[in-house]
Amino acid sequence: MKTKFIFITGGVVSSIGKGLAAASLGALLEARGLRVTMQKLDPYINVDPGTMSPFQHGEVFVTDDGAETDLDLGHYERYTNARLSKKSNFTTGQVYFSVIDKERRGDYLGGTVQVIPHITDEIKNKIIENAKGADVAIVEVGGTVGDIESLPFLEAIRQFRYDRGHGNALYIHVTLVPYIRTAGELKTKPTQHSVMELRKIGIQPDILLCRCERELPQEMKKKIALFCNVEEKDVIPVVDSEHIYAVPQSLNKERLDEQVVDKLNIWTKEPDLTPWQDVVETLRHPSHGEVRIAVVGKYVNLTESYKSLAEALTHGGIANDCRVYLKYVDSEKIERDGIDGHLDDVDGILVPGGFGERGTEGKIIAIQFARTANIPFFGICLGLQMAVIEFSRNVCGVKDACSSEFSDCGSPLIHLMEDQKSVSKKGGTMRLGAYPCAVAKGTLAHAAYNATEISERHRHRYEFNNKYRSALTGKGMILSGIYKDKDLVEIIELPNHPWFLGCQFHPEFKSKPLQPHPLFRAFVGAALAYRNKR
Ligand code: GLN
Repeated sequence: MKTKFIFITGGVVSSIGKGLAAASLGALLEARGLRVTMQKLDPYINVDPGTMSPFQHGEVFVTDDGAETDLDLGHYERYTNARLSKKSNFTTGQVYFSVIDKERRGDYLGGTVQVIPHITDEIKNKIIENAKGADVAIVEVGGTVGDIESLPFLEAIRQFRYDRGHGNALYIHVTLVPYIRTAGELKTKPTQHSVMELRKIGIQPDILLCRCERELPQEMKKKIALFCNVEEKDVIPVVDSEHIYAVPQSLNKERLDEQVVDKLNIWTKEPDLTPWQDVVETLRHPSHGEVRIAVVGKYVNLTESYKSLAEALTHGGIANDCRVYLKYVDSEKIERDGIDGHLDDVDGILVPGGFGERGTEGKIIAIQFARTANIPFFGICLGLQMAVIEFSRNVCGVKDACSSEFSDCGSPLIHLMEDQKSVSKKGGTMRLGAYPCAVAKGTLAHAAYNATEISERHRHRYEFNNKYRSALTGKGMILSGIYKDKDLVEIIELPNHPWFLGCQFHPEFKSKPLQPHPLFRAFVGAALAYRNKR
């Protein structure tokens, strides 16, 4: 079958849930037996979000091949089996980068290089390249219709249907139908205007996904359909739902996938949504109540900064048939006011990844508390590094233990690897993407994975300093995961503790609601056991 393309645009406001809608549609099409790929086009100039602050851009999601990408790719991987890569997310910056490179090489000799056709051709080629081998390619255009910077992307997707013909490309527009409290009414005008903007540039949407906080009455659908030139059945309400994993089912109830395959002339089986129903049922009515997990970090104001992490913990809950309540604790507050009151009411403590020194002493205090009070502890990336420093200082007596990320300290337990020392460029220069790791038998890690060879994704510059290995293992620390090629410590754990484990990689990037990650399953399981004993 020739690949069919679905383009998803957004209108009215940003953060409207295009990513989730795209991912949920992906899940529905997979449930119908189709092979799906997903892609996100971002209109900003940065080459990738790797150098942006998580406060501004949210989490940076990492793929197996080491791309630093938009967090929507996290949704795509969690909802579908699509294998995402460097090609799955590109920005205006990347598009211009390659066009200018070609111009310098002389590929356009004699010609004037212009937005149309050179930039738009580059965009189309990148879309086609990522879609190879798929039945359906879902392509989300970042930003909001009407933005100056998304114009070349919209023009490129307009040309797509022109090039390939109806039935091969489909436009879905996600818009907002706000409820105006003072008037007690839902309003369709923003949707009308947004679709008008799209039609001005030659795109007539086929389906409208209308985000709204309450049911869309039939006469409103009718009105939107008439004004926006779509069929009434293609005005699909997406009412706010209590769980993001309920979105595939609710879109299916509104017959989104049916309309899509119909319009694209694809014959499929009926979708089997039982696995999604089971997930939602567990989220709604968990048999084992709730566990409270403290996430001790610096980026505490924005849950977007720890998106995959929060989801992975939810998945750990699904695997244990319990709800996971996340308590975000600002490590700087612990540093300032001490630990009292911050962590007494939790069943597990997690220190996630992060950059820079600010707040790290508070994380170390929290880790010491988890270790000595026997509370399940999970350290991820910077979390492992801080656990190593805590153990060196407080168990091995290396008082000046620290990370050379923060200062030229006396005992750099965490340091820069030789091949990182000469690197000065900031973009895409960390240890990135999937690396294999050998797991030692008889450890917590092995019990969780039930495997001796695993592969996990990385995003960091600093490493466990092998010079201190014997000092730490002499006092009981177990090095349960090693990257053999370079002899790097990837997992540490402590015996005589209910569950204390740190990993240098980011397991949260590989967890899915239908396949919870082994380490999150084990950690939440340990927290549940701790709660029951408490
Ligand atoms: N800042 C640390 C490093 O670069 C940890 C990074 C992280 O937690 N992702 O090694």
